[in-house]
Amino acid sequence: MITGATGYVAGWIVKHFLDNGYTLHLPVRDPDNLKKLSHLKELEKNSSGTIVFFKADLLKKDSYLESMQGCDTVIHTASPFKTKVKDPQKDLIEPALYGTENVLNSVNQTPSVKKVVVTSSVVAIVGDSIEFQSGPKDESHWNNTSSLLHQPYNYSKTLAEQKAWQIYEAQNRWELATINPSLVLGPSLNEQVTSESYNIIKQLGSGELKFGAPKYHFAAVDVRDVAIAHFKVAIQDELKGRFIVSADNTNLLELGRLIAERFGDKYPLPQKELPKWLVWGLAPIIGLKRDVVAKNVGHPWQLDNSKSLTELKLEYRDLKQSAQEFFAQVYNEKI
Ligand code: NAP
Repeated sequence: MITGATGYVAGWIVKHFLDNGYTLHLPVRDPDNLKKLSHLKELEKNSSGTIVFFKADLLKKDSYLESMQGCDTVIHTASPFKTKVKDPQKDLIEPALYGTENVLNSVNQTPSVKKVVVTSSVVAIVGDSIEFQSGPKDESHWNNTSSLLHQPYNYSKTLAEQKAWQIYEAQNRWELATINPSLVLGPSLNEQVTSESYNIIKQLGSGELKFGAPKYHFAAVDVRDVAIAHFKVAIQDELKGRFIVSADNTNLLELGRLIAERFGDKYPLPQKELPKWLVWGLAPIIGLKRDVVAKNVGHPWQLDNSKSLTELKLEYRDLKQSAQEFFAQVYNEKI
């Protein structure tokens, strides 16, 4: 069973399982919304696998119970990925935290389930880039700096993953693994993209940053590699625990420059650095918080992805390829 199948990341996970002949139970918010499901039905048609759709909502207690019946593995990806929300408690924390609790409580009531994979994030490991000043971070580290007021999306992912481990520790029937991807890039299988990944790529080509982009640091990975990681962890019993899934450490300016190598002639992509003092000064006007600028601009990421290389044996796609392919799709260009 895979939650959030209509989403950007889950689309590729679904494809992997279908191409390998699996039967998938997909609980979605609206199984009658053909627009949101058509790409999944198309994937099913071109594969040896099968999809059965169900209706469920993260905020409705026990609504995943029916779809889970008979499944041996549960992959929980559903959670809003938005950085600009009106009410962080209602829009981020509740679906992330309550949703994880809801899905895992149903796992506890479903004897067939032996393995659970939760899509967490690197933001459950590190809250702000400034934390890398004390050195690289691996799976042993936890984000202990985010809150409802500071980096609420990061806080939602941290609370949700901690809840997953807490529920896991209280039982001994099923195993748990979390996939902690960095910013996911690369082509989407669905047309109606809600993920913040899409908005970031869209913004780079929109001209908003044509006078320059800040060195706002993060790490990134291709969506197809994130799907492979979920697939491997789901089907191999011995793969447990947290897995950072991240190809490269980068920043907003570098991402703009990588895309500009291919599309710079046609699109006003950022090629110059916007100095930190200027970003800090403009922050309230451009919708950023000054403490977020202070703790993230100019502080490079140092994420240790070695566990994903040795245990998952991932061979990461090149970041330039992922970024350019994603940009081409968002702006309807040929690559
Ligand atoms: P997305 O495209 O916006 O997908 C989010 C999914 O969650 C959608 O299927 C959505 O369903 C579902 N969802 C949201 N609220 C729900 C609710 N109340 N009940 C049931 N389903 C609900 O985002 P994404 O980028 O693929 O993210 C998927 C997962 O990856 C999330 O857990 C996210 O935190 C994690 N992640 C993403 C990135 C990234 O860069 N994209 C990086 C690290 C981790 P609807 O279609 O019905 O809205």
